[in-house]
Amino acid sequence: MKQPIGHALGLQGWIIYRLEQNEHQVDVYAGRPKKEARCPHCQAISRSVRSRSSNWQRKLHTWVDQKPVYLCLRPRRFRCPSCRKVFTETFPGIKPWARMTDRAMGMLFGHLRDRSFRRVAEETSKAPERFGAFCFGAFAFAEHRDAPCGS
Ligand SMILES: [Zn+2]
Repeated sequence: MKQPIGHALGLQGWIIYRLEQNEHQVDVYAGRPKKEARCPHCQAISRSVRSRSSNWQRKLHTWVDQKPVYLCLRPRRFRCPSCRKVFTETFPGIKPWARMTDRAMGMLFGHLRDRSFRRVAEETSKAPERFGAFCFGAFAFAEHRDAPCGS
């Protein structure tokens, strides 16, 4: 039932637990359906989930109706059956250190590279200076909202 939303947000193959939105933003609580992950050290497949991050991590993902959409993720920690190391799962389309997804990054840099703010502003029917502030705000927001979100 929630798959059309996942499709619209470019999240095919993800589990969407719930959506929360307010006047400023949309939070999409999501995770991966696979019960296994590949060890980054020795490439073995692990099905041994040791724990789950206690905090939700927020990653800027896209925009809907001018509102930023964040993915809220709680990565699992696995123990490798081969080398015994504990590692944290990674997500497709999100670099482990990034505070936004590849999709968000592509959208932002695509806009900045290919078009002037004025053109983008015309398309989004916002004032140019406001769109600039919006873009900058999205960056700043993504930088500082890595903190736990939700409850
Ligand atoms: Zn390993």
